[in-house]
Amino acid sequence: MKLESLALHHGYSSEQTTKAAAVPIYQTTSYTFDNTQHGADLFDLKVPGNIYTRIMNPTTDVLEQRLAEMEGGIAGLAVASGMSAITYAIQCICQAGDNIISTSQLYGGTYNLFVHTFPRQGINVKMVSANDFDAFEASIDDKTKAVFCESIGNPAGNIVDINKLSEIAHKQGIPLIVDNTVATPFLCKPIDFGADIIIHSLTKYIGGHGTSIGGIIIDSGKFDWIANKEKFPMLNEPDPSYHDVVYTEALGEAAYIGRCRVVPLRNTGAAISPMNSFQILIGLETLGLRMERHCENAEKLAEFLQNHKKVAWVNYATLKNSPYHERCQKITRGKASGIVSFGIKGNDQVSGKEAGGKFIDALQMILRLVNIGDAKSLACHPASTTHRQLNEKELISAGVSADLIRISVGIENIDDIISDVEQALEA
Ligand SMILES: *Cc1c(COP(=O)(O)O)cnc(C)c1O
Repeated sequence: MKLESLALHHGYSSEQTTKAAAVPIYQTTSYTFDNTQHGADLFDLKVPGNIYTRIMNPTTDVLEQRLAEMEGGIAGLAVASGMSAITYAIQCICQAGDNIISTSQLYGGTYNLFVHTFPRQGINVKMVSANDFDAFEASIDDKTKAVFCESIGNPAGNIVDINKLSEIAHKQGIPLIVDNTVATPFLCKPIDFGADIIIHSLTKYIGGHGTSIGGIIIDSGKFDWIANKEKFPMLNEPDPSYHDVVYTEALGEAAYIGRCRVVPLRNTGAAISPMNSFQILIGLETLGLRMERHCENAEKLAEFLQNHKKVAWVNYATLKNSPYHERCQKITRGKASGIVSFGIKGNDQVSGKEAGGKFIDALQMILRLVNIGDAKSLACHPASTTHRQLNEKELISAGVSADLIRISVGIENIDDIISDVEQALEA
């Protein structure tokens, strides 16, 4: 099946007992054992089955199978948020003393995790500008366990050459992890460009209606964890917390995603609720339709802004003058998702940053908040909200200038979006 159909059907056919057509919400914490032996076999991973919803749940399982298939992966692990997905994706292969290399153009929460939280736990993150391939090569050392990037950076809107980064990573025997939240599989399937592990915040386009927080890790199953055995001891050496299982031996190509489930998720517990999995599955059904409209509206808004005399600059990859115009054709199917960023010209009295604040305050339909990917249009000023903790230099390396306004363009009628923006610019 193609993506639109997978989004509706994959991973579920009418449930055996009730013939329910919609995916049932299995709102249960635990699952009964037939007898003591059955319980023991489940705990030994000898028979498949459910034990406890912190580790697995049948509603969540449909979401995991469906999105893994849509991304071209072999398996997925849904968790409580995009942030926990990123944390687990890295903790699964990194321990104190290790490091990763990341593009510096990142979502603000990821930036804080990488710059402030991981280093205190002994995992260092080296930040490199996404287009500086030589710096990527030069930064990798024998303790580097992964390269990380966002396929389309939030909020910078830069498109990353996933092909190139995966080549650099693979040459050094390490995987490429791609946060595909902004692009979604409808614009880009990073595994086709050599990525090994995909992350999503399900909170954004996939859920699509701003109702539920969630995240997922998807494993391509292609990375060879055994070829560089000594680099990945957590996958290749016996795990005493799981009666000495060696994940690469027990789970083969699913070693990584299996360990993500039975170690970071089982032991630190950022599980997604079955109700959220259900809500996100409903959102996923219309992802393709929504992405078409998000992209179409965003492109029209970007063109309107570019021609407006009060606008200093516009960043949107389909614009002819965008440095990412060509990559947009190659990597994201000529579409650039729903995030448009721009700056307003300042004057003698008002700086561009202040003008941005006034613009946000004047909006009438577009909501002032810090989410993206909702069906509704949303606006924010990252330098005073999501990226507030960053200093001037960090802001620049994250691709966030002080005057940057981010609009997550929704699926409303474009005329209403443009007229709200127009009156706010006048204000
Ligand atoms: C929102 C976001 C995240 C974090 O996801 P949550 O679900 O809010 O934890 C990670 N990456 C990107 C690109 C995001 O936009």
